[in-house]
Amino acid sequence: MIPRSAVFALALPFASPVLAEGFLISPPLECDLEKDCDIQQYVDSDPSSDAMDFTCGALSYDGHKGTDFALPDRARINDNIPVLASAAGRVSGMRDGMADSGYSSATADDIDGKECGNGVVLDHGNGWETQYCHLKQGSISVKTGQEVALGETLGFVGQSGKAAFPHVHLSVRQDGAVIDPFDPDGTVTCDTPGDSSLWSLRPEYRGGGLISIGFSDAVPAYNAIKHGDAAAPSLSVQADALVIWGHMFGTRADDIINLSITGPDGMVISDDVTLTKTQAQAFRAIGKRGRVDWPAGTYTGTVTMIRGLQIISQRSTDIEIR
Ligand SMILES: [Zn+2]
Repeated sequence: MIPRSAVFALALPFASPVLAEGFLISPPLECDLEKDCDIQQYVDSDPSSDAMDFTCGALSYDGHKGTDFALPDRARINDNIPVLASAAGRVSGMRDGMADSGYSSATADDIDGKECGNGVVLDHGNGWETQYCHLKQGSISVKTGQEVALGETLGFVGQSGKAAFPHVHLSVRQDGAVIDPFDPDGTVTCDTPGDSSLWSLRPEYRGGGLISIGFSDAVPAYNAIKHGDAAAPSLSVQADALVIWGHMFGTRADDIINLSITGPDGMVISDDVTLTKTQAQAFRAIGKRGRVDWPAGTYTGTVTMIRGLQIISQRSTDIEIR
């Protein structure tokens, strides 16, 4: 394996003084990583047509120039989650007015050349810039030329521009060159996590995990999961079936997803599903048909994501059946 420092030595010959200048950033979202949001894609640190994140993991795609902080589903866009300035600076550019339609063949023409969607660029001096993309239509609350403080609200999280899921994309640049805030001076290798960082508090790297889980009375449509309305709030004792589903990011071949339901009378169902490929996002579901009425009461669904011999993510949820 080529050490990542070698890769960056070619791409960024002047990157080493980064830390000496003391430019530090904070996450653009105030959310509980692993609960309310996830970093699902990192800067592509592979100069070829392949892609890899700074750990040599798969959480990137070819040419990705930023870090994606994702919300679990589109329903959360309605919560008006603030996008925060990652450092103090001056607004050097902004765009608003694009729909939160996401990216599809139907919207591709409108988005061409405006992949960032509704966005803000901040100038921090000394050649440093940050850019925030895919903000909610009509939410941008700063003007070009305005000075903003660290943590000041720029707008809300949305899904405008070339965005497959609701998230804020944060790009960091120095003199126009993309900088990975997790490896600003290119010293990280595949085997060593490195300690250089632009983060004042470095977010933990998670190589995949559960985004959301829920109960339903049939295997939900993937779109319903992405929109945030797949999880039934309660179910009838006469429900056709009892289904537990899990939505994951950063899956890899041979990951095992264990899904289980326990009811008032004990275990209803438990099964392992082995995944077959690396995917940015995926979902799996298992269920059981109701031949007679389900016993009324509280049911617990648990989804566990296992990689190798390690549990990398686990969540549980309860539902009332009545
Ligand atoms: Zn991105």
